[in-house]
Amino acid sequence: MVKVKVVEESPNSVTLQLEGIDRSYANAVRRFCIAEVPSMAIDDVVILENSSVLYDEILAHRLGMVPIRTDLNRYNLPEECDCGNPLGCHKCRVLFVLDSKGKERVSTVYSGDLVSEDRDVRPVSESIPIVKLAQGQSVKLEAYARLGKGKEHAKWQPCTVAVLTEGKGEGVYTLMVESGGALPARAIVTKAIELLEKKLKEIQVSLGASAS
Ligand SMILES: [Zn+2]
Repeated sequence: MVKVKVVEESPNSVTLQLEGIDRSYANAVRRFCIAEVPSMAIDDVVILENSSVLYDEILAHRLGMVPIRTDLNRYNLPEECDCGNPLGCHKCRVLFVLDSKGKERVSTVYSGDLVSEDRDVRPVSESIPIVKLAQGQSVKLEAYARLGKGKEHAKWQPCTVAVLTEGKGEGVYTLMVESGGALPARAIVTKAIELLEKKLKEIQVSLGASAS
């Protein structure tokens, strides 16, 4: 029987002591936290106007790195969504609009200037600088966020840190997970375990199928 003790917890960080577990299992949970638990990130940007000093691609890249609050219950991974639409639907993508004009000598466009069509899916922080605009310069764009996995691109990694350290005694490990803010730290670990279980079940089912 595996014993789990919560050593420390805040919304953005959780430290668990795992007892009676093999290192490879504990490490599998850690790896799933990083690579398999989905989170939202901007993936597709349609630039309508950009007279800033940044190239369109750099602007799009910067938007992709903005951590977005994620709701895993209401959104599907595009590849698992039943819409089958390559452009996505309201269950697998969220539209953000940015429309900024440089009014002063130099003004800064922040993540908080992105207007989301879903008020629960929005940047984790409103104060991430995106681009500076001089007077008269403007940026107008539409950006689509979707769920993705860390194994695809780092921008979809829900955690900034996930470390496993050896504790005192045999089969004792400490797992520390720190969230980037898209999901609560505890939810990342819970989802990782759920996805690991699902994957093991799939192996079991296909083994069963190949035996008969
Ligand atoms: Zn869809």
